[in-house]
Amino acid sequence: VKIAIAGAGAMGGRFGSMLATTDNPVTFIDLWQQHVAAINAHGLLAHTNDGDKRVHVPAFLPKDVHGTFDLIILFTKAMGIADMLTALKPVITPATHVLELGNGIGNIETISKFVPKNQIIAGVTVWSAALNGPGEITMKGNGSVTLQALASNEEPFFKQVLQVLTEAGLKPTASNDVLTAIWRKAALNSVLNTYTTILDCNIGEFSQVPDCDTLIDNVLDEFAAIAANQHVHFDEAATKQLIVAQFPDDANGTHYPSMHQDMAKGRKTEIDFLNGYIAKVGAKAGIPTPVNALLTKLIHGKEQLRQIQ
Ligand code: NAD
Repeated sequence: VKIAIAGAGAMGGRFGSMLATTDNPVTFIDLWQQHVAAINAHGLLAHTNDGDKRVHVPAFLPKDVHGTFDLIILFTKAMGIADMLTALKPVITPATHVLELGNGIGNIETISKFVPKNQIIAGVTVWSAALNGPGEITMKGNGSVTLQALASNEEPFFKQVLQVLTEAGLKPTASNDVLTAIWRKAALNSVLNTYTTILDCNIGEFSQVPDCDTLIDNVLDEFAAIAANQHVHFDEAATKQLIVAQFPDDANGTHYPSMHQDMAKGRKTEIDFLNGYIAKVGAKAGIPTPVNALLTKLIHGKEQLRQIQ
Protein backbone atom coordinates (compact mmCIF):
# COMPACT_ATOMS: atom_id res chain seq x y z
CA VAL A 1 0.00 0.00 0.00
CA LYS A 2 1.55 3.31 -1.10
CA ILE A 3 0.97 5.68 1.83
CA ALA A 4 1.12 9.48 2.16
CA ILE A 5 0.89 11.20 5.52
CA ALA A 6 -0.71 14.59 4.81
CA GLY A 7 0.04 16.73 7.84
CA ALA A 8 3.24 15.31 9.25
CA GLY A 9 3.20 17.04 12.65
CA ALA A 10 3.08 15.22 15.98
CA MET A 11 0.54 12.54 15.03
CA GLY A 12 1.44 12.35 11.34
CA GLY A 13 5.08 11.95 12.38
CA ARG A 14 4.17 9.16 14.79
CA PHE A 15 2.00 7.25 12.31
CA GLY A 16 4.53 7.75 9.50
CA SER A 17 7.41 6.55 11.68
CA MET A 18 5.53 3.45 12.76
CA LEU A 19 4.30 2.69 9.23
CA ALA A 20 7.85 3.12 7.88
CA THR A 21 8.82 -0.02 9.82
CA THR A 22 6.62 -2.07 7.43
CA ASP A 23 7.26 -2.87 3.75
CA ASN A 24 4.86 -0.16 2.59
CA PRO A 25 6.39 3.03 1.10
CA VAL A 26 5.62 6.13 3.17
CA THR A 27 5.82 9.80 2.10
CA PHE A 28 5.39 12.82 4.37
CA ILE A 29 3.48 15.83 2.99
CA ASP A 30 3.43 19.03 5.01
CA LEU A 31 2.91 22.76 4.55
CA TRP A 32 5.59 23.79 7.07
CA GLN A 33 8.66 24.37 4.91
CA GLN A 34 11.21 24.30 7.77
CA HIS A 35 9.82 20.99 9.02
CA VAL A 36 9.97 19.43 5.53
CA ALA A 37 13.54 20.69 5.07
CA ALA A 38 14.65 19.33 8.48
CA ILE A 39 13.16 15.88 7.78
CA ASN A 40 14.86 15.70 4.38
CA ALA A 41 18.19 16.90 5.79
CA HIS A 42 18.46 14.72 8.92
CA GLY A 43 15.44 12.39 9.01
CA LEU A 44 12.65 12.86 11.56
CA LEU A 45 14.13 12.68 15.06
CA ALA A 46 11.68 10.70 17.20
CA HIS A 47 11.97 10.30 20.97
CA THR A 48 10.30 6.92 21.58
CA ASN A 49 9.69 4.44 24.41
CA ASP A 50 12.79 2.61 23.12
CA GLY A 51 15.09 5.62 22.90
CA ASP A 52 15.75 8.13 20.13
CA LYS A 53 15.72 7.23 16.45
CA ARG A 54 15.98 9.01 13.14
CA VAL A 55 13.28 8.05 10.68
CA HIS A 56 14.20 8.50 7.03
CA VAL A 57 11.00 9.12 5.06
CA PRO A 58 10.93 11.56 2.11
CA ALA A 59 9.05 14.78 2.85
CA PHE A 60 7.43 17.18 0.37
CA LEU A 61 5.47 20.40 0.28
CA PRO A 62 2.06 19.62 -1.29
CA LYS A 63 2.95 21.52 -4.46
CA ASP A 64 6.01 19.30 -5.00
CA VAL A 65 4.25 15.93 -4.63
CA HIS A 66 4.10 13.75 -7.74
CA GLY A 67 2.60 10.34 -8.38
CA THR A 68 -0.45 8.86 -6.67
CA PHE A 69 -1.16 7.12 -3.37
CA ASP A 70 -3.38 4.22 -2.32
CA LEU A 71 -3.89 5.72 1.13
CA ILE A 72 -3.61 9.33 2.31
CA ILE A 73 -3.64 9.57 6.11
CA LEU A 74 -4.76 13.08 7.02
CA PHE A 75 -3.22 14.49 10.18
CA THR A 76 -3.63 18.22 9.80
CA LYS A 77 -5.60 20.06 12.47
CA ALA A 78 -9.33 20.05 11.66
CA MET A 79 -9.15 23.58 10.20
CA GLY A 80 -6.32 22.54 7.88
CA ILE A 81 -8.16 19.68 6.14
CA ALA A 82 -9.71 21.71 3.30
CA ASP A 83 -6.45 23.51 2.43
CA MET A 84 -4.49 20.24 2.42
CA LEU A 85 -7.03 18.43 0.23
CA THR A 86 -7.23 21.41 -2.14
CA ALA A 87 -3.44 21.26 -2.52
CA LEU A 88 -3.51 17.48 -3.05
CA LYS A 89 -6.31 17.45 -5.66
CA PRO A 90 -3.88 16.56 -8.50
CA VAL A 91 -2.69 13.39 -6.75
CA ILE A 92 -6.08 12.10 -5.53
CA THR A 93 -7.55 9.52 -7.96
CA PRO A 94 -10.65 7.27 -7.82
CA ALA A 95 -8.34 4.62 -6.34
CA THR A 96 -7.12 6.83 -3.46
CA HIS A 97 -8.59 6.30 0.01
CA VAL A 98 -8.38 9.03 2.65
CA LEU A 99 -8.07 8.03 6.30
CA GLU A 100 -9.04 10.69 8.86
CA LEU A 101 -8.28 10.13 12.56
CA GLY A 102 -8.03 13.72 13.83
CA ASN A 103 -10.16 15.26 16.55
CA GLY A 104 -13.35 17.21 16.04
CA ILE A 105 -16.78 16.78 14.50
CA GLY A 106 -17.57 17.65 10.89
CA ASN A 107 -14.29 16.41 9.39
CA ILE A 108 -16.06 13.74 7.32
CA GLU A 109 -18.35 16.39 5.79
CA THR A 110 -15.30 18.51 4.88
CA ILE A 111 -13.43 15.58 3.32
CA SER A 112 -16.49 14.46 1.34
CA LYS A 113 -16.38 17.80 -0.52
CA PHE A 114 -13.11 16.58 -2.08
CA VAL A 115 -13.37 12.77 -2.10
CA PRO A 116 -16.43 10.52 -2.60
CA LYS A 117 -17.68 8.98 0.66
CA ASN A 118 -16.83 5.45 -0.52
CA GLN A 119 -13.14 6.46 -0.57
CA ILE A 120 -13.18 7.74 3.04
CA ILE A 121 -12.16 5.81 6.14
CA ALA A 122 -12.77 7.61 9.42
CA GLY A 123 -12.03 7.01 13.04
CA VAL A 124 -10.37 8.11 16.25
CA THR A 125 -7.10 7.28 17.93
CA VAL A 126 -5.85 7.36 21.49
CA TRP A 127 -2.20 7.34 20.42
CA SER A 128 -0.57 10.63 21.31
CA ALA A 129 2.53 12.59 20.28
CA ALA A 130 4.09 16.04 20.53
CA LEU A 131 5.85 18.13 17.90
CA ASN A 132 8.92 19.66 19.59
CA GLY A 133 10.07 21.75 16.63
CA PRO A 134 10.99 21.30 12.95
CA GLY A 135 12.01 17.68 12.35
CA GLU A 136 11.52 16.49 15.94
CA ILE A 137 8.69 14.66 17.71
CA THR A 138 8.11 12.82 20.97
CA MET A 139 6.04 9.64 20.57
CA LYS A 140 5.83 7.82 23.89
CA GLY A 141 3.14 5.69 25.55
CA ASN A 142 0.72 3.29 24.00
CA GLY A 143 -2.50 3.55 22.02
CA SER A 144 -4.96 2.14 19.53
CA VAL A 145 -7.08 3.14 16.54
CA THR A 146 -10.83 2.65 15.96
CA LEU A 147 -11.90 3.02 12.33
CA GLN A 148 -14.63 2.38 9.81
CA ALA A 149 -14.78 2.41 6.01
CA LEU A 150 -17.71 4.65 5.09
CA ALA A 151 -18.44 2.33 2.13
CA SER A 152 -18.23 -0.99 3.98
CA ASN A 153 -15.86 -2.67 6.38
CA GLU A 154 -16.06 -5.69 4.05
CA GLU A 155 -14.16 -3.79 1.32
CA PRO A 156 -10.91 -5.67 0.47
CA PHE A 157 -8.89 -2.43 0.62
CA PHE A 158 -10.15 -1.70 4.14
CA LYS A 159 -8.99 -5.14 5.25
CA GLN A 160 -5.58 -4.35 3.73
CA VAL A 161 -5.46 -1.08 5.70
CA LEU A 162 -6.23 -2.96 8.93
CA GLN A 163 -3.43 -5.39 8.10
CA VAL A 164 -0.90 -2.60 7.42
CA LEU A 165 -1.82 -0.70 10.61
CA THR A 166 -1.51 -3.95 12.57
CA GLU A 167 1.94 -4.64 11.09
CA ALA A 168 2.99 -1.12 12.14
CA GLY A 169 1.90 -1.84 15.74
CA LEU A 170 -0.86 0.77 15.61
CA LYS A 171 -3.49 -1.64 17.04
CA PRO A 172 -6.50 -0.95 14.81
CA THR A 173 -10.04 -2.18 15.52
CA ALA A 174 -12.81 -2.00 12.91
CA SER A 175 -16.03 -0.40 14.16
CA ASN A 176 -19.53 -0.28 12.75
CA ASP A 177 -20.41 2.88 14.67
CA VAL A 178 -17.42 5.15 14.37
CA LEU A 179 -19.54 8.32 14.65
CA THR A 180 -20.32 7.41 18.25
CA ALA A 181 -16.58 7.10 18.96
CA ILE A 182 -15.88 10.42 17.21
CA TRP A 183 -18.61 12.24 19.16
CA ARG A 184 -17.52 10.71 22.49
CA LYS A 185 -13.94 11.87 21.94
CA ALA A 186 -15.11 15.32 20.77
CA ALA A 187 -17.29 15.66 23.88
CA LEU A 188 -14.40 14.68 26.14
CA ASN A 189 -12.17 17.23 24.41
CA SER A 190 -14.91 19.88 24.57
CA VAL A 191 -14.88 19.52 28.34
CA LEU A 192 -11.24 18.90 29.24
CA ASN A 193 -9.46 20.85 26.49
CA THR A 194 -11.73 23.86 26.65
CA TYR A 195 -12.00 24.30 30.42
CA THR A 196 -8.28 23.71 31.07
CA THR A 197 -7.43 26.26 28.37
CA ILE A 198 -9.78 28.90 29.79
CA LEU A 199 -8.73 28.20 33.39
CA ASP A 200 -5.05 27.74 32.43
CA CYS A 201 -4.69 24.54 34.44
CA ASN A 202 -4.08 20.82 33.97
CA ILE A 203 -6.77 18.11 34.09
CA GLY A 204 -6.24 17.29 37.78
CA GLU A 205 -6.51 20.97 38.74
CA PHE A 206 -9.73 21.28 36.71
CA SER A 207 -11.23 18.40 38.71
CA GLN A 208 -10.73 20.50 41.87
CA VAL A 209 -12.57 23.64 40.77
CA PRO A 210 -15.89 24.37 42.51
CA ASP A 211 -18.88 23.05 40.56
CA CYS A 212 -16.64 21.02 38.22
CA ASP A 213 -19.43 18.47 38.02
CA THR A 214 -21.96 21.06 36.82
CA LEU A 215 -19.45 22.52 34.35
CA ILE A 216 -19.09 19.06 32.77
CA ASP A 217 -22.86 18.41 32.70
CA ASN A 218 -23.59 21.79 31.10
CA VAL A 219 -21.41 20.92 28.09
CA LEU A 220 -22.54 17.28 27.83
CA ASP A 221 -26.29 18.03 28.10
CA GLU A 222 -26.03 20.18 24.98
CA PHE A 223 -23.94 17.52 23.19
CA ALA A 224 -26.70 14.99 23.93
CA ALA A 225 -29.38 17.31 22.50
CA ILE A 226 -27.42 17.98 19.30
CA ALA A 227 -26.43 14.30 18.90
CA ALA A 228 -30.12 13.36 19.07
CA ASN A 229 -30.89 16.01 16.43
CA GLN A 230 -28.14 14.56 14.20
CA HIS A 231 -29.26 10.95 14.81
CA VAL A 232 -25.92 10.06 16.39
CA HIS A 233 -25.92 7.63 19.31
CA PHE A 234 -24.35 9.50 22.26
CA ASP A 235 -24.10 7.97 25.75
CA GLU A 236 -23.82 10.98 28.08
CA ALA A 237 -23.26 8.96 31.27
CA ALA A 238 -20.49 6.85 29.70
CA THR A 239 -18.81 9.99 28.33
CA LYS A 240 -18.87 11.61 31.77
CA GLN A 241 -17.40 8.47 33.29
CA LEU A 242 -14.59 8.56 30.73
CA ILE A 243 -13.91 12.22 31.57
CA VAL A 244 -13.81 11.59 35.32
CA ALA A 245 -11.49 8.63 34.73
CA GLN A 246 -8.85 11.10 33.41
CA PHE A 247 -8.69 13.03 36.74
CA PRO A 248 -6.22 10.97 38.85
CA ASP A 249 -2.54 11.81 38.48
CA ASP A 250 -1.80 8.25 37.39
CA ALA A 251 -4.38 8.64 34.60
CA ASN A 252 -4.07 12.08 32.92
CA GLY A 253 -4.30 14.43 35.91
CA THR A 254 -0.95 16.09 35.29
CA HIS A 255 -1.57 16.44 31.52
CA TYR A 256 -2.19 19.79 29.79
CA PRO A 257 -4.53 18.95 26.86
CA SER A 258 -3.60 19.82 23.28
CA MET A 259 -5.78 22.94 23.14
CA HIS A 260 -3.91 24.31 26.16
CA GLN A 261 -0.62 23.51 24.40
CA ASP A 262 -1.79 25.11 21.13
CA MET A 263 -2.78 28.29 22.97
CA ALA A 264 0.56 28.36 24.82
CA LYS A 265 2.44 27.97 21.51
CA GLY A 266 0.38 30.71 19.82
CA ARG A 267 -1.31 28.21 17.47
CA LYS A 268 -4.99 28.35 16.53
CA THR A 269 -7.20 25.91 18.46
CA GLU A 270 -9.72 23.36 17.12
CA ILE A 271 -12.58 24.96 19.13
CA ASP A 272 -14.82 25.42 16.04
CA PHE A 273 -14.84 21.63 15.55
CA LEU A 274 -15.59 20.89 19.24
CA ASN A 275 -17.88 23.17 21.32
CA GLY A 276 -18.18 25.45 18.28
CA TYR A 277 -19.70 22.68 16.16
CA ILE A 278 -22.40 22.07 18.81
CA ALA A 279 -23.15 25.81 19.01
CA LYS A 280 -23.32 26.14 15.22
CA VAL A 281 -25.69 23.19 14.73
CA GLY A 282 -27.75 24.33 17.73
CA ALA A 283 -28.18 27.80 16.23
CA LYS A 284 -29.23 26.30 12.87
CA ALA A 285 -31.65 23.78 14.37
CA GLY A 286 -33.12 26.15 16.97
CA ILE A 287 -31.80 24.04 19.87
CA PRO A 288 -30.40 26.16 22.75
CA THR A 289 -26.65 25.62 23.22
CA PRO A 290 -25.67 28.69 25.29
CA VAL A 291 -22.84 27.00 27.21
CA ASN A 292 -21.00 25.68 24.16
CA ALA A 293 -21.59 29.00 22.37
CA LEU A 294 -20.11 30.94 25.31
CA LEU A 295 -17.10 28.63 25.66
CA THR A 296 -16.41 28.96 21.91
CA LYS A 297 -16.48 32.76 22.20
CA LEU A 298 -14.17 32.69 25.24
CA ILE A 299 -11.58 30.57 23.42
CA HIS A 300 -11.78 32.80 20.34
CA GLY A 301 -11.42 35.79 22.67
CA LYS A 302 -8.30 34.29 24.19
CA GLU A 303 -6.90 33.55 20.70
CA GLN A 304 -7.52 37.15 19.69
CA LEU A 305 -5.94 38.57 22.85
CA ARG A 306 -2.85 36.51 22.01
CA GLN A 307 -3.04 37.68 18.39
CA ILE A 308 -3.34 34.13 17.10
CA GLN A 309 -4.47 34.14 13.45
P1 NAD B 1 0.40 19.30 15.01
O1 NAD B 1 0.16 20.71 15.38
O2 NAD B 1 1.58 18.61 15.58
O3 NAD B 1 0.51 19.19 13.42
C1 NAD B 1 -0.58 19.58 12.58
C2 NAD B 1 -0.01 20.41 11.43
O4 NAD B 1 0.40 21.67 11.92
C3 NAD B 1 1.19 19.76 10.76
O5 NAD B 1 1.06 19.94 9.37
C4 NAD B 1 2.35 20.58 11.30
O6 NAD B 1 3.47 20.64 10.44
C5 NAD B 1 1.71 21.96 11.44
N1 NAD B 1 2.44 22.79 12.41
C6 NAD B 1 2.62 22.54 13.73
N2 NAD B 1 3.38 23.52 14.30
C7 NAD B 1 3.65 24.39 13.31
C8 NAD B 1 4.37 25.63 13.27
N3 NAD B 1 4.97 26.14 14.36
N4 NAD B 1 4.44 26.29 12.08
C9 NAD B 1 3.85 25.78 10.97
N5 NAD B 1 3.15 24.61 10.95
C10 NAD B 1 3.05 23.94 12.11
O7 NAD B 1 -0.97 18.50 15.30
P2 NAD B 1 -1.20 17.03 15.87
O8 NAD B 1 -1.03 17.06 17.34
O9 NAD B 1 -0.41 16.06 15.07
O10 NAD B 1 -2.75 16.86 15.59
C11 NAD B 1 -3.29 16.41 14.34
C12 NAD B 1 -4.73 15.97 14.62
O11 NAD B 1 -4.71 14.83 15.51
C13 NAD B 1 -5.58 17.03 15.34
O12 NAD B 1 -6.91 16.89 14.94
C14 NAD B 1 -5.45 16.62 16.80
O13 NAD B 1 -6.52 17.08 17.60
C15 NAD B 1 -5.47 15.11 16.66
N6 NAD B 1 -4.88 14.35 17.78
C16 NAD B 1 -3.70 14.74 18.34
C17 NAD B 1 -3.15 13.96 19.36
C18 NAD B 1 -1.81 14.31 19.98
O14 NAD B 1 -1.42 13.67 20.96
N7 NAD B 1 -1.06 15.26 19.44
C19 NAD B 1 -3.81 12.81 19.80
C20 NAD B 1 -5.00 12.42 19.17
C21 NAD B 1 -5.53 13.21 18.16
